[in-house]
Amino acid sequence: MAAYTSVHKLYVLLCGFEILPLGISVRGGDNRIIVAEPICAYLAETETGWVLFDTGIDAERIHDPDLAKAYYTDRGWTTLPVVHPAHSLTGQLQEIGIRPEDIHQVVMSHMHTDHTGYLKLFRHATITAQRAEYHYALYNPPELGNIIEDYNLPDLNWQLIEGDHELQPGIQLLSTPGHTPGHQSALISLPSGKQLVLTFDAGDFLQNFDQELLPGSASNDRQAMESLLRLKRLANEPGHMLFPLHDPAFIQTARLAPLYYD
Ligand SMILES: [Zn+2]
Repeated sequence: MAAYTSVHKLYVLLCGFEILPLGISVRGGDNRIIVAEPICAYLAETETGWVLFDTGIDAERIHDPDLAKAYYTDRGWTTLPVVHPAHSLTGQLQEIGIRPEDIHQVVMSHMHTDHTGYLKLFRHATITAQRAEYHYALYNPPELGNIIEDYNLPDLNWQLIEGDHELQPGIQLLSTPGHTPGHQSALISLPSGKQLVLTFDAGDFLQNFDQELLPGSASNDRQAMESLLRLKRLANEPGHMLFPLHDPAFIQTARLAPLYYD
């Protein structure tokens, strides 16, 4: 019999696309190949409230020409991310029937800007991240993928954890460093008994797991491969399913909010 889970539903929120050379996601990939990679966040409805995993990318920094130049073009991004009105985080929440204020728990997989964009809407919530990620993102010079203004906000309520952590029954946070120093993934137990392995950026595509290919960029290659193999092993257990965040083919078959997994 399946263990008790507090999770009722899991929603996939599609928050836009990044236009990236293949080598960003697959080590050694041919950079003449340009891929439109979905940017996702996930929302769990649980017995004790709503839990959001990542927050998408801030559309204002893309659509305001001065901000786009400062945050993307001048920093080496060759093509701006694509965020249409249908990708709005708050719009998708509204369709589900909630507002950002209704979400009291946010889990951050890591601190790249395609995940931290709307943290600013969750100043009332608890933000759970790995301590290593928080320190790395705040106290090291920002990399191409980080926009420190997304998360260096004085009134965010951080809960910093170290290693694997049961957030609540049915939501296990898994320490999967390597893409970044404190990257974490999640295992979600659904009422049906199905277990979703949310990989975030431990491997962008299913291909990374199938062929055991490192992510394009990693803070530590050895850790990145260990994390990838850990998630692959987990997904191979009965009833488990890999749920990649940036896979362009997978997203076309996924149930997008307001549809859900249960
Ligand atoms: Zn990332």
